[in-house]
Amino acid sequence: MTDLKSMTQEEMTASLKALGEPAFRGKQIFTWLHRGATSFDEMSNLSKALREKLKGEYLLTPPRVARKQVSRLDGTIKYLWELSDGNCIESVLMQYHHGNTVCISSQVGCRMGCAFCASTVAGKVRDLTPAEMLDQVIFTQKDSGLPISNIVLMGIGEPMDNLNTVLRFLELVNHTDGLNIGMRHISLSTCGVIPGIDRLADLGLQLTLSVSLHAPDSETRSRIMPVNRAYDVEKLFDACHRYFQKTGRRISFEYAMIDGVNDQDWQADLLAKKIRGMPGHVNLIPLNDVVESPFKPSKRVAAFQKRLESHGITATVRRSLGGDIDASCGQLRRKAMEEQKKGVDAP
Ligand code: SAH
Repeated sequence: MTDLKSMTQEEMTASLKALGEPAFRGKQIFTWLHRGATSFDEMSNLSKALREKLKGEYLLTPPRVARKQVSRLDGTIKYLWELSDGNCIESVLMQYHHGNTVCISSQVGCRMGCAFCASTVAGKVRDLTPAEMLDQVIFTQKDSGLPISNIVLMGIGEPMDNLNTVLRFLELVNHTDGLNIGMRHISLSTCGVIPGIDRLADLGLQLTLSVSLHAPDSETRSRIMPVNRAYDVEKLFDACHRYFQKTGRRISFEYAMIDGVNDQDWQADLLAKKIRGMPGHVNLIPLNDVVESPFKPSKRVAAFQKRLESHGITATVRRSLGGDIDASCGQLRRKAMEEQKKGVDAP
């Protein structure tokens, strides 16, 4: 059966035409699905006979809310979604002054192996489909009742490792008959997969590129991010400069501050030197303590920020939301997996 919701509107129209339906059906059904319909039976402007026919042709796979945690501190909502094959992924809804932002996953698990990250501990299970990415936005909005204006691709997975799907997701979420979220309201975060950065640069999309840098020197970066052994930080900065030259868009560098690893003054100096020549912005992230990881949060965040600013580099410290609900990357999925394992292993 065909995954209807992953189709563009043009593809839907063509597919329905092949079933003998008029062209306007594509737009009709696209609109229903993007408004959050979970079955053909909800599509009240289609005949009963057509709805039955569609059920036999197309598969709809809406996710189920497996868990939901609401922060008492700031209203951040974390969803653990169960997908149609039983796998779980996370999304987080954050309420900011500039609007509601949802952070979504792009893969089930991750194969990038960053040493400080909970999402990659058990590796990658599979890529998400475009529909599964889109549904995180649609059903977070539907369940919470909060209109979503911004999207960040900073959940579980490496977007550049599933880039064709991500590009299609962007097209879908951007569509005027769908959620109609503008590219300038979307951020894509990568651990530094250079061919993906170059491909995005060629497309010239108006989204914000975030690069998870976490260290300006090759030795430290290879130690905490295996991806650096394939795409070295020197070449990564070249790619970032190319990206800026082609798109004119400012890059945001993510930098999780790890005690004694990447928080030294010489690293701030080196980072500033490498960014020079393009309008980069550094986002300092207080490290989230992940149980499985030997790394601890740095106590030098403010000093590091000052040092960067002394070189004329703008750096902000990310405000931490949802501190009471495991709201950071991959933590809720890890917890659910652990509990499931314990349940199975128990005598
Ligand atoms: N794979 C992409 C998308 C994940 S985004 C990427 O690497 O950019 C999630 C962001 O949170 C990344 O910047 C990631 O490096 C960061 N992160 C992961 N674990 C973290 C932790 N324990 N503390 C702080 N930030 C973390």
